[in-house]
Amino acid sequence: MEKLQNFINGKYITPISGAYLDNFEPATGKVYSLIPDSDERDVELAVEAAEKAFPIWSKMTIEERSKILVKLSEGIEARMDEFVQAESRDNGKPVSLAGHVDIPRAVSNFHFFATAILHFASESHYMEGQGINYTLRKPIGIVGCISPWNLPLYLFSWKIAPALAAGNCVIAKPSEVTPYTAYLLGQVAKEAGMPDGVLNILHGLGGKVGDAIVKHKKIKAISFTGGTKTGEYLARTAAPMFKKLSLELGGKNPVIIFADCDFNEMLSTTIRSSFANQGQICLCGSRIFIERSIYEKFKTAFVEKVNKTVVSYPQDPNAKMGALVSLPHLEKVLSYVELAKQEGGTVLSGGERVHLEAPYNEGYYMRPTVIEGLSYDCRTNQEEIFGPVVTLTPFDSEEEVMKMVNSTEYGLQTTLWTSNLERAHRIADEAQSGIVWINSWMVRDLRTPFGGVKSSGVGREGGWEALRFFTEPKNVFVKY
Ligand code: NDP
Repeated sequence: MEKLQNFINGKYITPISGAYLDNFEPATGKVYSLIPDSDERDVELAVEAAEKAFPIWSKMTIEERSKILVKLSEGIEARMDEFVQAESRDNGKPVSLAGHVDIPRAVSNFHFFATAILHFASESHYMEGQGINYTLRKPIGIVGCISPWNLPLYLFSWKIAPALAAGNCVIAKPSEVTPYTAYLLGQVAKEAGMPDGVLNILHGLGGKVGDAIVKHKKIKAISFTGGTKTGEYLARTAAPMFKKLSLELGGKNPVIIFADCDFNEMLSTTIRSSFANQGQICLCGSRIFIERSIYEKFKTAFVEKVNKTVVSYPQDPNAKMGALVSLPHLEKVLSYVELAKQEGGTVLSGGERVHLEAPYNEGYYMRPTVIEGLSYDCRTNQEEIFGPVVTLTPFDSEEEVMKMVNSTEYGLQTTLWTSNLERAHRIADEAQSGIVWINSWMVRDLRTPFGGVKSSGVGREGGWEALRFFTEPKNVFVKY
């Protein structure tokens, strides 16, 4: 059985404990590799390496750093197929999705920040007759990047790329459930000429090695994407050490559909926004609100399309949905379907686990699920499920739908379908979320601020926001 290793100080090494954890293949439910069960001793090694590397990396010219990051991006691109297959196998997502979204996006993340840093400028403030202030933006030092399993390399690189571009050394931990592409990244970084110790990748349990990263005094900032509960714990742990924190957390995103929208475009996009990546994207819309005059039309057309969705093993080119990421997660999602029934909901489609033919019969598959008849404030409509489950709710007025839209503790994104321009802008303004998509979904421009409000997080990623997060501003005043 293949044993993955930690990547510390430019070398692949075994965890100090010598212990390993099982890595399951979601498509078959079988263990297919082992990952290091790292702990605080491995973090200590990584910190020592990063401390040595920091003066080299932070003092390198921006052009040199940029070149290495461009090479890193090209290195992933050159091994596209290997990364795509690895991501799909580790996560259960269709190969086609990993090939169209996950890995190309990881390539873009490195390329984007490799070049963005060349244009990153700091501010100056002139004081008439007195002098001038200028702001230095220095790298922070050693930073921690912790990412989840749903878009493994995509979100891992979204953090690491700006952190490195800004001149920091990184100690990163992917989810223990999806470690493989992060494991491969070490090789590519080495080949790209990244100095030893600049990027260190540790594997293992969140509560163990992740916790040790958060608690380490020399790690000055933490960029975290994951669940709200974990984010809350991280904030409580890191705040007394005054660490900089960027927290991208859960969501319970609304999709608002008005009768005046382009019905066909809305319908096909809503299938994607509901079930892409098995519904395991923080940006998926799980609460669908439909203007009552088109409720029945939408329901019939949507359910018909959902029933035709092909759930299959990841390598099947026809698969629109693959396996969920793990057995505990599948069980959690299915438990919400039971809860929805108890809360008075009617399952219009799906709701059950799927057993494919061998060798995929123990894989973690379920049908895309559509539920109606629930109140907007029940648990099913308030708690994050993070799987292929959506609810349908009719509405009569803008006022009524906005009350329901803004009723959850979350505020990551809002999707809106209408041809009424005035209404679109009004709702975009009123929606309590960090991101709004009008007549579209998941159109991403890497320059824009990315993140949520309320329990969906603190801080923003993307573009200058990320480079500002990973630098410490220092103001200098010069008297005339
Ligand atoms: P978790 O919060 O369980 O884990 C996220 C990461 O944190 C994993 O690497 C995990 O390691 C690690 N971790 C867990 N506990 C600790 C700890 N005590 N200290 C340090 N690190 C820890 O989230 P999931 O992996 O289950 O991801 C799903 C969640 O991520 C959903 O809530 C989803 O909404 C959110 N998400 C948010 C996005 C956004 O941009 N706002 C984007 C994508 C997902 P391990 O895997 O080993 O437990």
